[in-house]
Amino acid sequence: MTDYRCGQCLRVFTLDEFNRLAKVTQRKSYYRDEKGNIRPLIPNKVEKKYVCPNCGYVFGSDPWRINHYVEIKSEGGREAKVRLSTVYTEVNVGTPEEPLWYETVVREVQCDYVKRYFTKKEAIEGHLELVELLKKGRFKLNFPRRQKPKLVVLEPPAFDKAAAVLDEVKAEEYKGEDPSD
Ligand SMILES: [Zn+2]
Repeated sequence: MTDYRCGQCLRVFTLDEFNRLAKVTQRKSYYRDEKGNIRPLIPNKVEKKYVCPNCGYVFGSDPWRINHYVEIKSEGGREAKVRLSTVYTEVNVGTPEEPLWYETVVREVQCDYVKRYFTKKEAIEGHLELVELLKKGRFKLNFPRRQKPKLVVLEPPAFDKAAAVLDEVKAEEYKGEDPSD
């Protein structure tokens, strides 16, 4: 079953419970134009949204999120600007046994990369990890004709992480020595 979770008091609702929650009418905060771009409010456009009975949080209104733009270059030197988006999903994107409430995806390009998390802390770490991967060039970027650029994020194999830990250990050891000796 699909569970929902309040973004403020973190109370979890089953789908049945969620569908019975009181609703408020809100002005639509944005809409998507024909190209899929987010546009600001259009007057008189309203929608009904569910409200947490515990704390008044309005679902789908303004969930927690981080957006981060990174400019990347293909091997051929062509550039693309990507938006890394990490959001509080409000809906369980994991399994009933292991619920997950946060998600990182890449926007503005075609990209299958997705990471999901249980806590906000994990979500922030995952977001920053993706920023690092892109800054370190761990990706393939292609420009198919008449389509958005296509990005494949290359994640480091486990031994890479081990090597990074070893580097840190070495750096620590090095700090102990006085380079002027
Ligand atoms: Zn609540």
